[in-house]
Amino acid sequence: MSEAAPTSRNIPLPIQREVRQRCGFGCVICGLPLYEYEHLLGWANVHRHVAEEITLLCDQHHRERTGGLLPIETVQNANNDPCNLREGVSKPYDLHYSGDECEVRMGSLTFTTSDAGYGTIMVPISVDDTPLVGFILSEGHLLLNVNLFDEFNNCILRVVNNQLVQSAEPWDIQLTGRNLVIRAGHRDILVDLTFEPPNRVLINRGRLLRNGVEIVIRPSYVLVVNNRALIQDLTVINCAYGLKLGPHRGPGGAAVAMDGINRYPEDSSDAMKWAESKLSKDVPEQALGGIVSPGPAEGSTEATEQMR
Ligand SMILES: [Zn+2]
Repeated sequence: MSEAAPTSRNIPLPIQREVRQRCGFGCVICGLPLYEYEHLLGWANVHRHVAEEITLLCDQHHRERTGGLLPIETVQNANNDPCNLREGVSKPYDLHYSGDECEVRMGSLTFTTSDAGYGTIMVPISVDDTPLVGFILSEGHLLLNVNLFDEFNNCILRVVNNQLVQSAEPWDIQLTGRNLVIRAGHRDILVDLTFEPPNRVLINRGRLLRNGVEIVIRPSYVLVVNNRALIQDLTVINCAYGLKLGPHRGPGGAAVAMDGINRYPEDSSDAMKWAESKLSKDVPEQALGGIVSPGPAEGSTEATEQMR
């Protein structure tokens, strides 16, 4: 990616990332995960982008700073000891979800549920009784819940009943407008999702991990890497669970249920090559809308995208 010219107001992306990491992915004063980049010395004075001279402020604290209500010393102190790094998690942020119908799209899979009274839930994907993404529908309230884990099974991002609570641990979290991207490393996207309030979440791509189960989400398919279960073009309406992987105690019908999954698969890139070769060759007619069941590895040199 090209860096902006030195005199441009646009902060080069690598510098933005460095600032986000240093500031714990939130306003250094209050921790809110929605923020702007602030030149501590004032852009007009310096006309340069140096990571150490840039900090993160939420809209309110940015306005207070611009209006002179927030002293520079306070911002500098917070910049030296950012709220989120001190707390370990970011300040909760309320997502505005509501209504009596909700939708989650993962790749080419769509899950839709209408409120059918007390206890209506929709969990598009759940591993070992942990919903990775889910909605609770209750009298016009739509409560989004998300639990995302890294490869060491640490929870890196949670949405608890519409409250976005980030952990400050991952390599990079970037919330731009409604789009949230979490990276485990350079060009290693763990999840790329879009919040579409009032009632929709899009998981554009991802590598969902939990207890040694790995689910790869691509625009055209969802792949359970462990057993090479490949799912494409699935529409599920009014079903409590979409993909129910591993043992679950509670009741609730599932569109796709899998038990006895081998844990901690090998690197997912071979499985993804296999999936892409399957889908480019023999998917057509009758297999569309269903599951291409687990099968043997096949050599393929198809280019995989940047995600492992
Ligand atoms: Zn703030």
